[in-house]
Amino acid sequence: PGAAAVPGRRILLAAPRGYCAGVDRAVDAVEKALEHYGAPVYVRKEIVHNKYVVETLTSRGAIFVDETDEVPEGARVVFSAHGVSPAVHAAAAARNLATIDATCPLVTKVHKEAVRFARDDMDILLIGHDGHEEVEGTQGEAPDHIQVVNSPDEVDKVVVRDPENIVWLSQTTLSVDETMETVRRLRERFPALQDPPSDDICYATQNRQVAVKKMAPDCDVVIVVGSANSSNSVRLVEVALEAGARASYRVDRAQEIDDSWFEGASTVGLTSGASVPEILVRDVITHLGRLGYGEVEEVRTATEDIIFSLPKNLRADLKASG
Ligand code: SF4
Repeated sequence: PGAAAVPGRRILLAAPRGYCAGVDRAVDAVEKALEHYGAPVYVRKEIVHNKYVVETLTSRGAIFVDETDEVPEGARVVFSAHGVSPAVHAAAAARNLATIDATCPLVTKVHKEAVRFARDDMDILLIGHDGHEEVEGTQGEAPDHIQVVNSPDEVDKVVVRDPENIVWLSQTTLSVDETMETVRRLRERFPALQDPPSDDICYATQNRQVAVKKMAPDCDVVIVVGSANSSNSVRLVEVALEAGARASYRVDRAQEIDDSWFEGASTVGLTSGASVPEILVRDVITHLGRLGYGEVEEVRTATEDIIFSLPKNLRADLKASG
């Protein structure tokens, strides 16, 4: 039984939020593979960084593993949206695995940039988080040419062979502002630093941050739905706080909300990371409704219509079977 809406209490709902084209495609690839080939379908790493998605796919017959050596010889494995290094492709081939590569095309774009600049024998400064799967994959394209720069504070530690021959690239899901600060400091040290041919931080990451920036100054509290290992979700909390929200919290789902967060709050902002199904946002809206936040107003800063088609070999198999 829901409490009545309390006058003055409202939810601002950021748009765009939630699924990006790369996540939609990767999740769809696993679902289609399960339907077409039957369970089990192995998936190397979390297909996207969201607990609910991983649990749901597991219940349908997906088996998540950390490395290809956990996949039985000859079985089928899906590579996650974050991308894999050439070494992982080679390891899968050595085990005769049938692979479906769900790497987001916007991550593949960064891999190609890395390969090209390494071929030109440039030092590549990859701005990103050490240990994140995407960074490991990109770095694996040219391990001898790439060094990871985690934050602006690490700029002073960077050592390059030739300051006239360096370029920066980045992980796709970083904070735009913090990345620009890292680049500014890098360029202070290395004025000849080259920019990537186009933005590496993807459209979805950027759009979600712009929407939160617009919404946050009007919010007492901003709730970000997303998992702890989701880089772009965690960045949304930081962006909300920097943009003026009094408080901001990340939750995997509505059950994790602590109602004391909203004491004295009239406006609650709500958004979700690029790997988050909309149903989880709806659950939070229902929860907030019980607390009297009955009015929902959308704050939209962009409209997205990008769609990526399924991985080629999966598409061909689906087509062949009609
Ligand atoms: Fe691709 Fe960006 Fe989505 Fe990552 S967040 S899957 S790079 S569209």
